[in-house]
Amino acid sequence: MVKTPSPCLNPSAQGTPSYDVVIIGCGVSGANIARRLSAYRLRVAVVEKAADVSFGTSKANSGIIHGGFHHPKKYLKSRLEIQGNWMFDRLHQELGFPFKRCGIIVAALHEDEMKAVEHLYWQGRENGALGLELCSRERLLSLEPQLSPEVVGGLYAPAGGIIEPYRFVFALVESALTNGVHLYTNWKVVDAHWNTEKKEWRLVNQEGGSLSARFVVNAAGLYADEVSRLFGAEEYIITPRKGEYFLLDRLTPVRPERVVFPVPSALSKGMLVIPTVEGTVLVGPTADPALSKEDVATTAEHLDIILEAGKRLVPGLNRNDVITTFAGLRPVLGEDFYIEPSTKVPSLIHVAGIQSPGLTASPAIGEYVKDLLKAAGLELTEKPDWNPCLPPRPQARNLSPYEWDDLVQNDPAWGHLVCRCETVTEAEIVEAIRQGHTTLDGIKYFTRAQMGRCQGAFCTYKIIKILMRETGMSYEEITKHGETSQILRGAL
Ligand SMILES: Cc1cc2nc3c(=O)[nH]c(=O)nc-3n(C[C@H](O)[C@H](O)[C@H](O)COP(=O)(O)OP(=O)(O)OC[C@H]3O[C@@H](n4cnc5c(N)ncnc54)[C@H](O)[C@@H]3O)c2cc1C
Repeated sequence: MVKTPSPCLNPSAQGTPSYDVVIIGCGVSGANIARRLSAYRLRVAVVEKAADVSFGTSKANSGIIHGGFHHPKKYLKSRLEIQGNWMFDRLHQELGFPFKRCGIIVAALHEDEMKAVEHLYWQGRENGALGLELCSRERLLSLEPQLSPEVVGGLYAPAGGIIEPYRFVFALVESALTNGVHLYTNWKVVDAHWNTEKKEWRLVNQEGGSLSARFVVNAAGLYADEVSRLFGAEEYIITPRKGEYFLLDRLTPVRPERVVFPVPSALSKGMLVIPTVEGTVLVGPTADPALSKEDVATTAEHLDIILEAGKRLVPGLNRNDVITTFAGLRPVLGEDFYIEPSTKVPSLIHVAGIQSPGLTASPAIGEYVKDLLKAAGLELTEKPDWNPCLPPRPQARNLSPYEWDDLVQNDPAWGHLVCRCETVTEAEIVEAIRQGHTTLDGIKYFTRAQMGRCQGAFCTYKIIKILMRETGMSYEEITKHGETSQILRGAL
């Protein structure tokens, strides 16, 4: 039997539903704000132009929970980074997304880089980063034996961690929906009107549908500048800065235990070697201007540069372990985050320029925006029945044979392996669909099916068949990530 997704997902409302707060954009910023507000007696909605949540910058990044030493204290982003980092253990307990405090290393390859390392150490201390250690060569190699023998010393930040960013967003959204928030996907805000009499905004989407809101939060990522313009609010320009990556197979023999950074330059944190929380390895990212806000192309030329940079830190990296490449776009607006109420129009909060460490800072962004809304006049009354926890969700690849067998006894779909590389069963694909993930990418990010060595060559057609059966969609309606990304057309 197909369970209908939560009634709070794409509610089919007549007329113009009205909300206390509407959040525009459901990346990690919007999702944290929504979940935080779900603890209060408020009518809250999130609108997202993509077919699923986390399909913007929040899906393609390094997945690092930063250690609080890269930026000076004068920046808001630095303070929110430290606070956000501290919030992850609790969020992990409540929501169960993959997260590990594996620690971060900054490795100096020349004596003259040690000055910069010391600067990071004192900067981190001043920021309030916990447990920072200035390390000798021997200490660093004992912490991370995969490091180059050329290393001369460095920094160790034990509070740094790794996370699966889209699974974090999915968990936040599921929690928010469970606590009464409404989510509208495929809902692009194209117009906004202030009603002076009612003191509320009317937001209009691409199909002429509308919602009204007493307060609006602009968390539209790369498009926050365009959204601001729709409201007649502040004029600013967001520039996309591209970061390209290599992804290595989980079978690579040189997976470091900790995130390995080079000594940063004035422009970027440099190219790193990142053990992902799910067992693969990322190498990257670059930091180059992008051609447009949709330009996520990767090039062989850049990827050679990345591999060379990675090899300087971890010499054992091997091109044969590469299973795919991808790119993400940083929404750059000056040096700092821009999280402030508009001074030009009423009841609008900007959450813009959220480049790195936005993922790390995002839980603190949720708190900060909640406080800004309160200061702007939003009444916050706690819900006595707010439930911060999600039920645990088993994954075949983490089960013992006995646990797995128990699940198969209750539901034979647990016994049908769909993705061999990442050990994903039919039951997990069905659960993803029931949670509202009905594109191939949505299912991929929820389950990891299609993310392994064969990149979906074995499982994609199986997933399409399950999607058709569970949703009643035809194969022509199935897309990779919504809009015009159909993968099958015409006769099969
Ligand atoms: C290469 C790279 C590496 C990074 N590495 C890290 C890291 O390791 N650690 C870290 O802490 N941070 C990292 N970051 C930063 C982090 O990824 C971002 O700060 C964060 O994802 C921003 O989230 P967001 O919700 O603000 O934006 P987004 O995720 O882009 O969300 C904005 C959403 O708004 C939607 N939207 C836009 N316009 C409209 C509209 N008109 N109507 C409705 N919806 C709309 C978009 O579809 C999108 O889903 C990295 C970023 C990049 C690019």
